[in-house]
Amino acid sequence: MIDSRRLAYLEALGVDAYVRRGLEPVPAPASPSVEAPRPVAEPLPVQVAAGRGPEATLDWEPLGEMVSACTRCALHETRTQTVFGVGSRCARWMFIGEAPGAEEDRQGEPFVGRAGQLLTSMLKALGFSREDVYIANVLKCRPPGNRDPRPEEAAHCRGYLERQIELVSPALIVAVGRIAAQNLLATDTALARLRGKVHALGPRGWPMIVTYHPAYLLRSPGEKRKAWQDLLFARQVYGRIQDGERVLP
Ligand code: SF4
Repeated sequence: MIDSRRLAYLEALGVDAYVRRGLEPVPAPASPSVEAPRPVAEPLPVQVAAGRGPEATLDWEPLGEMVSACTRCALHETRTQTVFGVGSRCARWMFIGEAPGAEEDRQGEPFVGRAGQLLTSMLKALGFSREDVYIANVLKCRPPGNRDPRPEEAAHCRGYLERQIELVSPALIVAVGRIAAQNLLATDTALARLRGKVHALGPRGWPMIVTYHPAYLLRSPGEKRKAWQDLLFARQVYGRIQDGERVLP
């Protein structure tokens, strides 16, 4: 039995609560905020930091200041402000999207506006609030006209995201949307083929799964059911991680 609030979130997601054989929501996980405290992110081994920018060893505050002042790529010329990231800095789940849109550029926060509201509904259907997870983008500045990030822009910005991941040290990363997934995994494989698997992200092999971008789901509501399946898969993977199981091949 699910409560009325979760039912409302499932409806917002477009998931038919009465046709969920195999899609039954499982009990909400313990909120990351009430779990036992975890060790702080380990200091970067020298060999990992080598060859990376100065952000590779920064803590949160100087990292945020560095991003705010960044002029590494041309996107700094057209941004209203940088969009760093939001949520719990010791979250167990981290969601990574592609880049800020117009509303994010205005508000300085990732995933606001209609797509952001849908992401919030997806999180709530999983039993999370936005404050329980950490949310960031591949790019910290808005590409004009919401065009796709260019490879050189993503490359310039990558060090900031890598450092955010290291500082959060999440148990599981969810790549939100094709562009984010392909960028993070350095592949042009179609999203459909990236879903339903656990990927190892970066040299440290952070477990990552892939799902649809909420903006895409707003355009293609018929795919919401698949997005819900992805989230249930993510939760199952997270449970296995919590049990100490190896989830990567
Ligand atoms: S997108 Fe990233 S690399 Fe480019 S200016 Fe913004 S913060 Fe710097």
